Amino acid sequence: MVDLQGQYLHIQPLIDAKLKEVTASAQFINGDEVKSFQKELENYLSIKHVIPCANGTDALQIAMMGLNLQPGDEVITVDFTFAATVEVIALLGLKPVLVDVYPDTFNMDVDALQKAITPKTKAIVPVHLFGQCANMEAILKIAKAHNLFVIEDTAQAIGADYIFKDGIHKKAGTMGAVGTTSFFPSKNLGAYGDGGALFTNDDLLAEKLRSIVNHGMSKRYYYNRIGVNSRLDSMQAAVLRIKLPFLDSYAQARQKAANFYDKAFANYDKISIPKRSVFSTHVFHQYTLKLVGVDRDALHEFLKSQKIPNAIYYPVPLHKQEAYKHFKFDTDQLEVTKELCQTVISLPMHTELELEQLSFITNKILDFIEQV
Ligand SMILES: *Cc1c(COP(=O)(O)O)cnc(C)c1O
Repeated sequence: MVDLQGQYLHIQPLIDAKLKEVTASAQFINGDEVKSFQKELENYLSIKHVIPCANGTDALQIAMMGLNLQPGDEVITVDFTFAATVEVIALLGLKPVLVDVYPDTFNMDVDALQKAITPKTKAIVPVHLFGQCANMEAILKIAKAHNLFVIEDTAQAIGADYIFKDGIHKKAGTMGAVGTTSFFPSKNLGAYGDGGALFTNDDLLAEKLRSIVNHGMSKRYYYNRIGVNSRLDSMQAAVLRIKLPFLDSYAQARQKAANFYDKAFANYDKISIPKRSVFSTHVFHQYTLKLVGVDRDALHEFLKSQKIPNAIYYPVPLHKQEAYKHFKFDTDQLEVTKELCQTVISLPMHTELELEQLSFITNKILDFIEQV
């Protein structure tokens, strides 16, 4: 699905020299690399504060702690996402409320969000799924009307632009109260291990988040609140500093591959290509097809037999997962997610895809589609 080795080979001299430098400095935690990365990412995103942390799941949890969400508070997110989003809500004793997504963009359905709001709702967590922003203008309006926090899960969409109706562009993750992201190796900005970050323009909240990632410490050995231990280490920050200047060109490489796939599948009724929203650029964390009247699992097996990587994101809705059943979700309202879990399939998507590989992949898929 990804080619991290191929990507590394293009930047090997830079990475190898930098990692040697970090090793020699022996500043492994909270060193200059982390501080520099923080500043560089703040500049890239045009945001006042980036708070690095250990991974994208922690980032979500720390955001909810920083916003002082309390047990019993309801947090609305989507049924069609990676489990981390719901996991942290549950871990903090908050109540997850799952809403459906749009069948074409896979992002939060704004009408469903509106309907799910109760007097207990405190926060909304839109997930910018597969590399494209949710409808933030509508979500922010609803949040404002009901006095709710918006936490943007940007693990899959770092670098994507949201385009407001007045033409203003903002980076994914910089529009809500807090944005969170992941630097897991296969993400669009991937480290060589775990990593994550939070983004905010709120000075007071930033100070609080910085304290929470470091055991709730205010000054050395004085603790104002209960925190966690969640750090980005210097090696990861060093890798991320090298990769950040390439992030936009990485997105272009992904868009190029997506356009190739689009063209190849354009004239086939049995294949529905991913829709681009008018209000967002797409950085293609995943390229995800929807199949119409084709056995998705059979295609999955066929591609595996042809040694073509492919994946099902996601095979089971969160509301059907054993771990979350006790929340008794309103499952009648989650029909789109149920359907998507049966019909989606994601194709290889990364920065190193060659034309030859792309035509091999698309030809095999079309062979299969034409047979059935
Ligand atoms: C990857 C991911 C996360 C979690 O990030 P980790 O760094 O793996 O903890 C959270 N939300 C979404 C949507 C993700 O894709």
